[in-house]
Amino acid sequence: METVTSNTQDTQHSVRPSEEEVRSALRTLLIAIGEDPDREGLKDTPDRIMRMWQEIFRGYQPEKKPRITTFANTNHLEEMVFDAGDYYSMCEHHVLPFFGQYYFAYIPSPEGRILGISKVARVVGYCAARLQLQERLAEDIIAMLSDALKGKALGFALMLRGRHLCKTMRGVRNKGEMAVTLYTGQFKTNRSLRLEFLKMVDTVK
Ligand SMILES: [Zn+2]
Repeated sequence: METVTSNTQDTQHSVRPSEEEVRSALRTLLIAIGEDPDREGLKDTPDRIMRMWQEIFRGYQPEKKPRITTFANTNHLEEMVFDAGDYYSMCEHHVLPFFGQYYFAYIPSPEGRILGISKVARVVGYCAARLQLQERLAEDIIAMLSDALKGKALGFALMLRGRHLCKTMRGVRNKGEMAVTLYTGQFKTNRSLRLEFLKMVDTVK
């Protein structure tokens, strides 16, 4: 069984290479695959990769962390709130994309706060912008949303369906598709709640 290690905080190197060092390393990689990094089409490729990485790996930058709006639960809602959307991430084993749909639900605390639901997509996007494993991506998303509600939500459910290019590109038999589901709180203890969640997943799938 593989251990899932954190990809933030303790694993970060404190000394970042300069942009020139990054460009030069990417040039080396191009040579390693048999390319000529000086030909016209590749001249700016190291630079383009570097800039793209700043964007698709913004999840390492605390200042890019989305601000999560919450509202007082004045109507004391405690019904399941559901949201779904797409995500794009990069696998930490091959640095290739994996992507698919997320299905999210939570039960607000009637005495706590509720999430601005549009923020869920931002949190998913931010947590996905790191080298990830599908399991840890699910955990990171729930942890950030749970923190925003000060740990007071009554339960979270998150399903991530994903297609891994490191598998599909190499023709691995299962087509590289996998699903991960994470339940906390009431979703863990209440089977009918889980079924209600899965029914919602089915209707938007
Ligand atoms: Zn992979």
